[in-house]
Amino acid sequence: MLITLPSASTEAECDALRERLDAMGLQTRALCAPGRQTLLCYGDPQAVKRASLLPFAPGTTVTPIPQPYVLCTRQAAPGRAVIIPGPTPVVVGGREIVLAAGPCSVEGLPMLRATAAAVGQAGAAMLRGGAFKPRTSPYAFSGLGEEALEMLGEVRRETGLAVVTEVMDARQIEAMIPHVDVFQVGARNMQNFSLLAELGRIRRPVLLKRGASATVEELLLSAEHIVSRGNDAVILCERGVRAHETLTRNTLDIGAVAALKKETHLPVFVDPSHAAGRADLVPALALAAVAAGCDGLIIEVHPSPADALSDGDQSLTPEAFAALVDQLAPVAAAVGRSLATQVAQPVARVA
Ligand code: PEP
Ligand code: MN
Repeated sequence: MLITLPSASTEAECDALRERLDAMGLQTRALCAPGRQTLLCYGDPQAVKRASLLPFAPGTTVTPIPQPYVLCTRQAAPGRAVIIPGPTPVVVGGREIVLAAGPCSVEGLPMLRATAAAVGQAGAAMLRGGAFKPRTSPYAFSGLGEEALEMLGEVRRETGLAVVTEVMDARQIEAMIPHVDVFQVGARNMQNFSLLAELGRIRRPVLLKRGASATVEELLLSAEHIVSRGNDAVILCERGVRAHETLTRNTLDIGAVAALKKETHLPVFVDPSHAAGRADLVPALALAAVAAGCDGLIIEVHPSPADALSDGDQSLTPEAFAALVDQLAPVAAAVGRSLATQVAQPVARVA
C-alpha cells in the first residue's frame, strides 16, 4: 500500500511510522514525491492489511496496491529507466529504443568480433552472446563457458558495446562480473528463485526473460524476487510463449508487451528471434514489438547462420540486421520513439 503523510508532517513522524511498520514485520520505501512524504509499505499481505487499519495521523491517505508484485507496479517508481553503466552508458526505458544483437552462442573470438563490429555499426548498443547455453538436448553445444566470457570482455573493451549474456547458475556470477554488463536470465530459469535471489544481491542490471509457459503475473513476481532483494535494475523480456502453433517456434505475445507497459515501471524488451524460430519472420515481429511499445529488442545475428552452432535458423545475417534497423526507425518515430543508434555520451554512473 501507499501511505501519503499529511503535508505538515516532519521527518521524525515519518521515521516513527516506519519503525512501527517495521515492528509489524513490514518493509517500507520512501518514494520521492514532490511536496508530501509517501511511503511504499509491503510484505506479507495479511500484515499489510492489519497495518492499513492503524490509526494514522489525520490527513494521511492510504492507497491499497492490489497487485502482489508491489515493487514492480507503476506506482512504485516515478520513471522506468534502467541505466546500464558501462563501458558506454546505455539508458533503457527512455524515449530511445535500445537494440541488443549478436550470436546465440559465442563460438570464437573472430566471429564475435566480426558480429560485434557489424551490429555496432548498424546501431546496436549492446552485444549479446551466450557463454553458458541451456540446451534441450544434453548432447547439443552448450557454450564455451569461461573462455567465452573472456572473449565477450575483450570485444566489450574493443567496441564499447555493453555485453548481455545468460547466467544459468548462481555459481557463475563471480566469473561473469568482470566481463558482463547485463545478466540474462533465460526463459528456462525464470522461476529459479535461488538464482533470482542472488541476482537481487548484486548491483548489475538483469534481463529477465519470460518462461515459455509463464503468465505475465508470474513474470512480474519473478522480477519482484530480484527487486525485493535490492536490485531495481530489471529489464523484462517477452520472447514468445508455448501455444499450439508449430509454424513458429513460440508465439510472440504482443498483448503482454502492451499489458506490461501499463502494469510496471520496468522496461520491456522483446526477443523476436526466439519467438519466430526462423529468420524470415524476425523483421515482422521486431516491427510489431516496436509498434506495441517495447523499450528494446534483443536479436540473434550470426556472420554465417548456416554454420551456427546454435539457433542458426533464426539468426539474421549482419546485412539483414542492418536492413531491419532501417525499417525500425520510421515505426519507432510513428509511436513517438527513436532508435538509440547514436553512441551515448558518458553520463553519471548510477548504482
Ligand atoms: C537465448 O537468448 O539464447 C535463449 C536461450 O533464450 P530463451 O531463454 O528465451 O530461450
Ligand atoms: Mn538462442
